[in-house]
Amino acid sequence: MRDEPADLLRRHGIQVTAQRLAVLAAVSGRPHATADDVAGAVRAEIGVISRQAVYDALAVLADKGLIRRIQPAGSPARYEGRTGDNHHHLICRTCGQMLDVDCAVGAAPCLTPAADAGFEIDEAEVIYWGRCPECLSTAPVGSETDVESVPARSLSRTGDDDTDRATTHKRTDRR
Ligand SMILES: [Zn+2]
Ligand SMILES: [Zn+2]
Ligand SMILES: [Zn+2]
Repeated sequence: MRDEPADLLRRHGIQVTAQRLAVLAAVSGRPHATADDVAGAVRAEIGVISRQAVYDALAVLADKGLIRRIQPAGSPARYEGRTGDNHHHLICRTCGQMLDVDCAVGAAPCLTPAADAGFEIDEAEVIYWGRCPECLSTAPVGSETDVESVPARSLSRTGDDDTDRATTHKRTDRR
């Protein structure tokens, strides 16, 4: 039997409010949503809600373990309803798409440090970074190799200028 969301909140000692229920529902229905995504979904559902109220609800729910917060480097936090199973994530560096991937080991912590410094370790946070199939298939073929092979050295007559230009070109090209 499935718990009513309101009971779920109560059992975790969270005061039940329409806003918290709407935030929980929004996160459960949209895995890996950002706080902004959640705010948009909640507004569509119950009308006006402040950004702060969304953040507060997300914080309470995550704190009590009803939702999980993932903080990838260099991007906004994402939230999901799938908790407690030690699953990991694949993230595309190009488009930011995030997918669940089961832990190959199962129970946390699934990695053993070379030295634990006396810590009792309960979790290893794993994010696999790379490029998704869509981004791989739309990437210009060989663009990086072309840039790398700019023969800056062979243009020694105007060497400095050309090296600078090659570097700038590389930076814009990768975007
Ligand atoms: Zn991608
Ligand atoms: Zn996930
Ligand atoms: Zn694992």
